[in-house]
Amino acid sequence: MSITHTEQQTSQGERTALVSVRGKATEIACPSWCTVDHTAKGVAAIEDVFHTGECRSVLFTGHGGEQRGSLLAELWQAPFARDTAPKLTVSTDQDDDCHELDADATDQLAADLEAHAAWLRSQAAVLRGTRPALTGTGSCHAHRWCTATGDHQEHTSPMVKFPHPDGSSGVVVDAYLFAEDGGTGPVVAFCDADLTPAQTRAAVADMRAWLVKVEALADTLDGEAPA
Ligand SMILES: [Zn+2]
Ligand SMILES: [Zn+2]
Repeated sequence: MSITHTEQQTSQGERTALVSVRGKATEIACPSWCTVDHTAKGVAAIEDVFHTGECRSVLFTGHGGEQRGSLLAELWQAPFARDTAPKLTVSTDQDDDCHELDADATDQLAADLEAHAAWLRSQAAVLRGTRPALTGTGSCHAHRWCTATGDHQEHTSPMVKFPHPDGSSGVVVDAYLFAEDGGTGPVVAFCDADLTPAQTRAAVADMRAWLVKVEALADTLDGEAPA
């Protein structure tokens, strides 16, 4: 497949744009992600030229039903300033400062947001009352969910037990959170395996599918003509 660039586009995917510097039309390279209309945006000095990308934010419905944004993020580059490297600029509703992130810091922010999204889902489940919040004794230095007290290196959450269906005190399966200072975890300890949150959800999905089959046994028995 051959890619034909327009006259305005170089082989690096950069376009050229005309910018008015003190009224003098000057040709500059403009990256493909830039959304600025440089021709319409005259500047007093070439150092004032900047590229910005698409701005996105996390939206939620605030008081009165209006859309509020947080974590505004966009690519930004001042190609003729002292630091010419492109950055991701991030700002929050709470402060007017823009914070510049490089590629590694942007990856870290994305990873933190994924963890934050998982936490938000867990809070939604608590709000719906579909998932009990696991709380520890509150005296652990490392983990909210830890039940240990005093000086300790091994952290365990309350046990989540599935009791034996025969009504005895026996336990079929248990699961809990575990972490060791300077070692394992934190992990979900489940059926003698140390699982990540994603692995735990996959195992739970498998168990749900299995439970449907267990219920199908009851349906099969219901459908059988009495002997
Ligand atoms: Zn540009
Ligand atoms: Zn602990």
